Amino acid sequence: MTQRIAVYPGSFDPLHNGHLDIIQRCRPLFDEVVVAVLRNTSKGKGLFSVEERVEIIDETLNDLDGVRVESFSGLLVHFMEAVGARTIVRGLRAVSDFESEFQMALMNRRLDSRMETVFLTSREEFSYLSSRLVKEVYLLGGDCQGLLPPQVLRRLAR
Ligand code: ADP
Repeated sequence: MTQRIAVYPGSFDPLHNGHLDIIQRCRPLFDEVVVAVLRNTSKGKGLFSVEERVEIIDETLNDLDGVRVESFSGLLVHFMEAVGARTIVRGLRAVSDFESEFQMALMNRRLDSRMETVFLTSREEFSYLSSRLVKEVYLLGGDCQGLLPPQVLRRLAR
């Protein structure tokens, strides 16, 4: 039987509990989930390097069965082809996410009509959470317990 492989792409700078929730909830829907850390981000210099983000995600997943992490650059559909995936998983927080996610899903399908995007809605308690916001709060000295996995908090404390 063909393996159902999904890719969950993002910048994950840093990985937060909203991301982790999506990973855990999409895992049973597929045979394998590849968390894919984007290299060519337009979001500017990151808090962590791409290599550190991959390491942190790997550490946090702690050998979670059927989930692995990789980084990629270039087009997502090319990366998907390379890993044999046909599904893109994305999280939806609010209406504001919808427009850009909708555009991206349509573009990816135009680039490769075999690729489908599946959206999981955020858990209520994480629906306001974004890497940008949590980064800002952390850098201003705010408490990020409960928003970031312990592995990320430990790295930040170093
Ligand atoms: P962020 O938007 O937090 O900077 P990314 O750009 O790395 O994170 O997003 C990767 C994916 O995770 C996107 O599909 C995004 O919508 C989703 N996502 C981000 N934050 C949350 C959240 N709090 N709950 C659910 N999904 C989320």
